[in-house]
Amino acid sequence: MTTAIQPQPGIMDIALYQGGASKIEGQASPLKLSSNENPFGASPKATAAVTEAAMGLHRYPSTDHKPLREAIGRVHGLSADRIICGVGSDEILTLLAMAFAGPGDEVLYTEHGFSLYRIFALSAGATPVVAPETNRCVDVDALIAKITQATRLIYIANPANPTGTALDMAELTRLADAVPDSCLLVLDGAYAEFFNGYDGGASLVTARENVVMTRTFSKLYGLGGLRVGWGYASREIIDVLNRIRGPFNMSSVALSGAEAAVNDREFVATCLKENAEQRARLTGGVRQLGIACDDSQANFVMARFADEAEALAADAHLKSVGILVRLVKGYGFPEALRITVGQAEDVTRVLDALASFKGAA
Ligand SMILES: *Cc1c(COP(=O)(O)O)cnc(C)c1O
Repeated sequence: MTTAIQPQPGIMDIALYQGGASKIEGQASPLKLSSNENPFGASPKATAAVTEAAMGLHRYPSTDHKPLREAIGRVHGLSADRIICGVGSDEILTLLAMAFAGPGDEVLYTEHGFSLYRIFALSAGATPVVAPETNRCVDVDALIAKITQATRLIYIANPANPTGTALDMAELTRLADAVPDSCLLVLDGAYAEFFNGYDGGASLVTARENVVMTRTFSKLYGLGGLRVGWGYASREIIDVLNRIRGPFNMSSVALSGAEAAVNDREFVATCLKENAEQRARLTGGVRQLGIACDDSQANFVMARFADEAEALAADAHLKSVGILVRLVKGYGFPEALRITVGQAEDVTRVLDALASFKGAA
């Protein structure tokens, strides 16, 4: 680039996002447990809706996403005019930063928080601020201690990625109580459904002007490739976000697929039940092998080995038997591997592979 053409300050500090690996050299179809995708795929009803929508590709999609917002509202008991749909929840999270933070402002998240939060802050020209966690959990007091007059946004994922740990409603409420009116608390609920009894923070959003919830179709609904997420906030905040989002951000295919998916409650119930059972099996099995693992409230577990060398050796062994998991050194856990909860036979494969790894060590 010529020196006369320069991006906004902060942008060149962004390191490119690294997604979960999807290929192993020399393996035709690896078992991919690196991106927290639904092991059962998408609802057949969503796939059928997508196929049908493909017949109308020459038409522009709706700009107000009303049918999808109403379907989401019905299922979650929320008012559709407080919902916004985006190209993955990533888009909602990034619109929040663009709309509410800028140069001189601070965007706060935690030590092991989702790697995109830093990117959202820097893209908006704001300053990222990191609060420490305690025992791999968001520490409400440590977070509160980092709030300043310049803090405009706080991002936390609950349950968190990559740890799988979660704050209960009492802790979330305590945090929300401490956030000043001038600052937005963004509850990233990418894994909210997997945390039994948790509403993603919707009740907090309903009661307060400065709390926002984001949700996604990429994890539980198995639609990561379709790119659909949504946010729930006050009407004023939704109005602000609607002004800066692209009018045709959601394709007609994405809108139709997501609407069919959210309405297929039977598929959702089956996936949740399987995830809970297999998560317990995976957690128990990993621990039995002498590998540390916190209780997870999501659709993955984080296995902690003795050190980075052992984690890398375990990763290499898993790869050699065709299993892809996620290295999480970038999240501050060089000694750990994040493993998506698969179907029963996938969990058996992972546990067998880890047992043979431990046996050979
Ligand atoms: C996967 C994930 C998201 C969601 O991404 P989409 O853009 O909706 O696919 C958001 N936050 C966290 C913490 C995630 O792990």
